Amino acid sequence: MALERDGFVLEPAQVAELKQRFGLSEAELLYSLIEPTQRLARPPVSDYHVGAVGLGESGRVLLGVNVELHGLPLNQSIHAEQFVIANAVRVGERRLTRLAVSAEPCGHCRQVRTTPVLPPVLSCD
Ligand SMILES: [Zn+2]
Repeated sequence: MALERDGFVLEPAQVAELKQRFGLSEAELLYSLIEPTQRLARPPVSDYHVGAVGLGESGRVLLGVNVELHGLPLNQSIHAEQFVIANAVRVGERRLTRLAVSAEPCGHCRQVRTTPVLPPVLSCD
């Protein structure tokens, strides 16, 4: 799947088509997107690739990865969950209903997920 061309957003029609083509439930689709999303991460400092996949209430799927910058400390990196939330805000999503992440969220991301801009998200189980 060529996620790079999709700008880290899958529109509801694309989501429906992928679910139908591969016979996946919503949660299964989110999980299946984690690994290809992880490959888009840019962690030149830690080499630790994190992928996050969120489902917006509109049906859009929002992708996020960790991004590290050479010359800056790791606490100034972008975390995958933060990337998903910024991506959601960018396209006008008001709420995420699910979030699947390749790694346990750090304390900072747990705090970001509870901001009033977007209600707390549910983790895929
Ligand atoms: Zn984090």
